[in-house]
Amino acid sequence: MKDVLSSLSVKEKHIPLRMCVACRERKEKKELIKIIRTPDGFSVAKSNEAGRGAYVCKNADCVAKAVKKRLFDKSFKERLPDGLYEELVEKTKNDR
Ligand SMILES: [Zn+2]
Repeated sequence: MKDVLSSLSVKEKHIPLRMCVACRERKEKKELIKIIRTPDGFSVAKSNEAGRGAYVCKNADCVAKAVKKRLFDKSFKERLPDGLYEELVEKTKNDR
């Protein structure tokens, strides 16, 4: 019983990490941009917007790689609109 309780408390402190599609590093959500599948298609998720998602780091290098190789297409197994990739590039343009 003691073991069950201690593992539960560890779980509470655990920060959920999400994997970037480009560099495959696991990071906290706040360091990532989330793309979600919506009923209408795909969009860049607003903060705390729920849904099946894929993530990329908020930096121009990872975004450039994800856009060039269309890594979100692979992640969702669907073709994402070009406009969405363009939106990602716009978002990270000023980071350099
Ligand atoms: Zn990354």
